[in-house]
Amino acid sequence: MTAPYSDSADVIHFVSGERFAGSGTRSQAVFNPATGAVARQVRLGTVEDIDAAVASGLAAFPRWADTPPIRRARVMLKFLELMNQHKDELAAIITAEHGKVLSDAAGEVSRGIDIIEFACGIPQLLKGDFTDQVSTGMDNWTLRQPLGVVAGITPFNFPCMVPCWMFPVAIAAGNCFILKPSERDPSASLFMARLLKQAGLPDGVFNVVQGDKTVVDALLHHADVKAVSFVGSTPIANYIYETGARLGKRVQALGGAKNHMVVMPDADIDQAVDGLIGAAYGSAGERCMAISVAVLVGDVADKIMPKLEARARELVIRNGMDAAAEMGPVVTGQALERIENYIALGVEEGAKLVVDGRNYKVPGHEQGFFTGGTLFDNVTPEMRIYKEEIFGPVLSCVRVGDFAQAVKLVNDHEFGNGVACYTRDGQVAREFARRIEVGMVGINVPIPVPMAWHGFGGWKRSLFGDMHAYGEEGVRFYTRQKSVMQRWPDDTTRGAEFAMPTAK
Ligand code: NAD
Repeated sequence: MTAPYSDSADVIHFVSGERFAGSGTRSQAVFNPATGAVARQVRLGTVEDIDAAVASGLAAFPRWADTPPIRRARVMLKFLELMNQHKDELAAIITAEHGKVLSDAAGEVSRGIDIIEFACGIPQLLKGDFTDQVSTGMDNWTLRQPLGVVAGITPFNFPCMVPCWMFPVAIAAGNCFILKPSERDPSASLFMARLLKQAGLPDGVFNVVQGDKTVVDALLHHADVKAVSFVGSTPIANYIYETGARLGKRVQALGGAKNHMVVMPDADIDQAVDGLIGAAYGSAGERCMAISVAVLVGDVADKIMPKLEARARELVIRNGMDAAAEMGPVVTGQALERIENYIALGVEEGAKLVVDGRNYKVPGHEQGFFTGGTLFDNVTPEMRIYKEEIFGPVLSCVRVGDFAQAVKLVNDHEFGNGVACYTRDGQVAREFARRIEVGMVGINVPIPVPMAWHGFGGWKRSLFGDMHAYGEEGVRFYTRQKSVMQRWPDDTTRGAEFAMPTAK
């Protein structure tokens, strides 16, 4: 078992390649969710701290942008090696502040590493297009150039993976990056900043400013921040998108979710149960791709409910550092209260509470932020527990008559992040993948998070902006295209032309 992360020093910022105390006097407690104790404080940054980070990025940008992509890729390769070397330490830091079980934290680090690996291919990804002889004696090519200083604002639920959706691609493409991590689990950001420095990244190319709305607004309003990537809840994503776009920035803002799994009558029921239990209760339901609604088609409910109930009751819930744990605590006492309030609401709304996870106590960790797995049956689309994102280990089952009703139910929901369909019928699977209005689809795959080179993003109110995170869309987001047309004097005809130029 890896030792718990025990550094009690305050978490501060990282600017110009060094720890940076900043000018702020406010700080916020960071908890150990398994014990409920305050583990350390995180400094909350100021407008001046953002000014300092942007200035550092601006100073580093010209040289970094001019560094040949292959040399930028070599820094990424070294960073990749260091991340692999320190994977276990990083996973322990994540578990200590977030609460998720260690194997899950290690999985998140691995998925982050995938994107770093992708970013190592930046010379190929930045290769432009060239057309010889677009007109007699004239060539045309396109190239992609970095934007300048760009920012990323990230949520608590993936303190390593979500920042890695952003900064490796942004930096490899030649930008300078300011990360504003979640104030609830900020330590992973500084750990990665140190590894980037060790990998040889020039000072100022990657900066971290801790904080809350004050620093987010300072980033949004800073004229020299050219692009903002955001991942978090939908109301904030909407605000970031509208504010950033109004101020002329490029914005991609990924929001919340309510992910459905449709289980067809011909599905392998045991596989569907495994898929549902892992995807609903893994990471205590604190994943934007967690399955929070099971859509049970036809007679599936009778076959699946007893199995789901038994498995939800058997979940092994402990301190995430315990190798046997399947589910750890939720992130804060506030999150715990919110989740348990939703369970009470579901009961009031008339859903059938099959397994009640409230007031769950782990021996020896009585003050920890634990809740058990909760299972509801007979949930209907009018209920708030169906409509709203609970972001905890609560699975709602909705019964529908046929495939068409299942598709309509999913398509009518305001969110469109992820969805899954369990079936053995190829035609049903094909129809589902084509008709469903959701950005990421799994066929017999419960959590279809796309691989590093495919890009991640939902539809509807799960994503504001035009481009998905990482993959080729990520490269496009962090660069702008330039087109060059060129000819040389010997090929240039004499005399001014007043008509629109055409190919000659
Ligand atoms: P959150 O929206 O509370 O916070 C996200 C970030 O925004 C944090 O850095 C936070 O400091 C900042 N922030 C919070 N309030 C703000 C405000 N009023 N103004 C400006 N900035 C503010 O989200 P969270 O609780 O950290 O994360 C969970 C949410 O993130 C869930 O809704 C989940 O679905 C979503 N999420 C979405 C994806 C995705 O890819 N679509 C991935 C992970 C998480």
